[in-house]
Amino acid sequence: MLDRNKILEMLDKFSIPSNMIQRGMVGLQSFVKPMEIVLTQKKPPEIGWSDTQIRFFLEFLANLDSNHDPEAMQIGEREARISTPLLHEYTAGFIHGVGRSGNLKAPQPKAVGGSILNSLSDSFALYTLKKTGMKTLKGAMVVPMGTGMSIMLAIRGIMHQFPDMKSKTQLIFPRMDHKSPIKAIELTGLENIIVESSYGKQLLENYQSLKRNKLIYTHANFIEEHGTDAVYVPVQQIKQQINEKTFGILSTTSFFPPRAPDDIVGIAQLAKEQNIAHIINNGYGVQSKTLMNMIQEAIKEGRVDAIIQSTDKNFLTPVGGAIIASPNKELVNHTSEIYAGRASSSPILHFVVSLLSMGMKGFQEKLEFQKEHRALLEIELNKLAKILDERVLDVHNPVACMFSLSNLNETQIAALGGFLYNLRVTGPRVVNSTKTDFGTSTKGYPYPYIVVNAAIGAQKEDILEAVEKLEKAYRQVQEKFSK
Ligand SMILES: *Cc1c(COP(=O)(O)O)cnc(C)c1O
Repeated sequence: MLDRNKILEMLDKFSIPSNMIQRGMVGLQSFVKPMEIVLTQKKPPEIGWSDTQIRFFLEFLANLDSNHDPEAMQIGEREARISTPLLHEYTAGFIHGVGRSGNLKAPQPKAVGGSILNSLSDSFALYTLKKTGMKTLKGAMVVPMGTGMSIMLAIRGIMHQFPDMKSKTQLIFPRMDHKSPIKAIELTGLENIIVESSYGKQLLENYQSLKRNKLIYTHANFIEEHGTDAVYVPVQQIKQQINEKTFGILSTTSFFPPRAPDDIVGIAQLAKEQNIAHIINNGYGVQSKTLMNMIQEAIKEGRVDAIIQSTDKNFLTPVGGAIIASPNKELVNHTSEIYAGRASSSPILHFVVSLLSMGMKGFQEKLEFQKEHRALLEIELNKLAKILDERVLDVHNPVACMFSLSNLNETQIAALGGFLYNLRVTGPRVVNSTKTDFGTSTKGYPYPYIVVNAAIGAQKEDILEAVEKLEKAYRQVQEKFSK
């Protein structure tokens, strides 16, 4: 990036001993060398960079954009003109955004640096997802929209890729209660065919009365593996919904308990056999080795068209981005081609900056901590459960634990979230399943409960204190609304 010989030649003109200059060059080299490596190898650095290095690198790229050329005559209707330098700061100088009207990933003539940043974000995404488990992935792109909007875009991308599927009008959606993917399906124009889930213990009981076959055996194992208090949508039930109008299936790996991950290997096999599309909502699943391995297995064993993951939930960026990945490079191209117009560079910048800052090593360390913290959360909640005569439900979610609220009445349950909020605990979800079923992803879940998370980036102290506060809030609502 910096021409060593040229610098030496310039510095030689100063009357400074050459051994001192050589020494100075060592420091300068170690500042810029990692940047050269990233630009050459197009993957995140192993060791994270300092903010000074990141700023320097971004300035370097941004100065390739035409709006930073002081001699340029700018007579277009848009020339990255901004009202205040503050906006330059907020965008790190990538004011042209990304993409051109016909393609989200096309290079922009006025934004050479921005285009490189855009391309770098995609290679970072592909590299990181392969490293964390999706070994045979072929394409990935960072999209400046959240998970739901990106699911919508990916589905439209598949429609663009397979024009002969035009007559297909239905999408099968194993029930999970989040409005974002539900609205995403609505936006695609496809009819949402929701497949109801069932309680794990109930399914196991039913299976015992049925004649054992391989399918039942496999699913019973799957339930044992992911927790008997979780809720499941058996692949058999999904299969029954397939008809000549079926476009595909939107499956889910990571969601709030009690929803278990879908049996995406089974669904992928089904999609392949039936020649229909399969989109995986992997919202916060990158942080789970189990889920990432499951996806890899699904890619190997069946059909997977697109896998969507949130950037903020997995990579510690501000909200606004997602990664659309695929074992099929064509899909990524089709998806970027149907994007309407230009887009903000910010979510892409945030993703690149976050990986530059953590480095692969820092990211892997955070994943390790997350696993430890999730285990710690369960231990602490189990202690609390003994004290309060409640139960940590048997749901093996990679980031969350589910805690029963069986000894609280309706009023107390309704008040618990607010009390926790006032104790400055944010993020837990209290669901009174006897009052409402939206949120439980099933019908008639037998226990009211609270879900507490230990996701990537959470600190050990957060977890210990949150469990303490849960005990406090639990007692406060019992006292305040005593029967
Ligand atoms: C967070 C989340 C969503 C919604 O994400 P948005 O970025 O707000 O659209 C959808 N599905 C799952 C599984 C999630 O975890």
